[in-house]
Amino acid sequence: MTTAQYLPDFVYIAAIALFILSLRWLSSPATARRGVLAGEIGAALAVVTTLFNPELVQFKWIIIALAGGAAIGIPLGMVPMTAVPQRTAMSHAFGALAAALIGISEYYMRLPNINKFEMTEIALEVIIGSLSFTGSLIAAGKLQELLPQRPIVYRGQNYVSLSVLAGAVVLALILILNPSHTALFLLMVIISLVFGFLLVMPIGGADMPTVISLLNSYVGFTAALLGFVLNTKVLVVAGALDGASGFILSVIMCRAMNRSFTNVMFGAFGQLQTAAAGTVEDRAVRTATPEDAAAILEAANYVMIVPGYGMAVAQAQHKVREFYDALTKRGITVKFAIHPVAGRMPGHMNVLLAEADVPYDKLIEMEDANTEFSQVDVALVIGANDVTNPAARTDKSSPIYGMPILEVEKARTVMVIKRGMSPGFAGIDNQLYYLDKTLMLFGDAKGFVGSIVRELTGGGGH
Ligand code: NDP
Repeated sequence: MTTAQYLPDFVYIAAIALFILSLRWLSSPATARRGVLAGEIGAALAVVTTLFNPELVQFKWIIIALAGGAAIGIPLGMVPMTAVPQRTAMSHAFGALAAALIGISEYYMRLPNINKFEMTEIALEVIIGSLSFTGSLIAAGKLQELLPQRPIVYRGQNYVSLSVLAGAVVLALILILNPSHTALFLLMVIISLVFGFLLVMPIGGADMPTVISLLNSYVGFTAALLGFVLNTKVLVVAGALDGASGFILSVIMCRAMNRSFTNVMFGAFGQLQTAAAGTVEDRAVRTATPEDAAAILEAANYVMIVPGYGMAVAQAQHKVREFYDALTKRGITVKFAIHPVAGRMPGHMNVLLAEADVPYDKLIEMEDANTEFSQVDVALVIGANDVTNPAARTDKSSPIYGMPILEVEKARTVMVIKRGMSPGFAGIDNQLYYLDKTLMLFGDAKGFVGSIVRELTGGGGH
């Protein structure tokens, strides 16, 4: 073989190296942008090299598929930051659909000469691809609130779901012994699609981040299996990296929320939500104006900011950065306590604060923050709710019981910026708001933080 014939393999190895570096760099906010770029270059190299494969003689369908993909992908890439979780779920759905369709076409193209090993690969790939497709669609629908976020549960549901999965596996076994049963193959695809639906429907909103990450891992493994089916090493490696990293992220998230994997998959977390949702109390809370808040903040030595979903919706991160500058200029220590599931996707707060150039070393993780709160003068919660709810530690009947939270109530004073008394994602009331040390700052996060900044820098300063 000449060097030119080896060239594609060299490029694939370079792409694989870039994927590995990408994952390495993505693990820190400081290098995350480089990580994204490395991943993009790796993927582009792999795709372009594949297009030069001499076995490819017809480009018509590839061009049509590229145009179709771009027509869907470009608008999908432009959704607002707060819709990124459902956008990610849609990407998983399309990835899974593509993998399942390729598996299906390989089955028909290879008939009747499919050996047992090939049939095993194809069956596994088509089952996981199909269930990930419908599972991801349901997850996107729940996050977009097109479907009810509460778990849809019924008696004996786990047995029904597992029987459906067992049905698909039995059909796969029959096909491995005799691949020519095309009707059974189609039935296996349909049953797998139904299983994806049954898998995600019973899971409640509070577990959606873990579900998305787990579906990401399934789609990765589907791609790896597809790599075996098509004998494409780069796809095997890229899929395995995707599958493994998604799986590790799911485990980390389960630990962060004190949930076991089996509970997430089968526990229908949050099924008490509907009962608890009506319990938002009509008790009095203490409120304060931006002037009051600025005066208290000026007297503080240590301020801990706790950002949440509301900060993301209000796009308040740049104002928060100005607020950080105004306080640090006065010699006040300011840090940001980051809960692993604050917002609507893993790393949501880190990305927003990085966008506003908040120094990374001021972002501290939940465990470290919880050891610090007792020394904090003011804990300023900006649009966060569930991740600060003490019920997670004290109320066994609460749907979020067991989820580790930011223990803001240990700070000397707590201030909460939110628009009213509406609950957060889990739909439950927050006792934090009724404490004597808590001041509610009612208003839009961006507007309210902006008013405090004005007080600190101009109107209300010393
Ligand atoms: P929450 O959803 O619990 O609370 C957000 C709060 O922000 C609401 O109570 C709301 O109150 C307030 N808010 C909304 N808009 C504004 C605004 N414009 N200005 C000011 N406040 C506003 O958020 P958390 O970040 O505390 O918790 C995240 C929740 O989301 C957890 O339950 C988590 O499990 C879940 N989740 C997390 C994912 C992740 O990967 N991070 C993914 C999916 C779900 P009001 O309406 O009164 O203003």
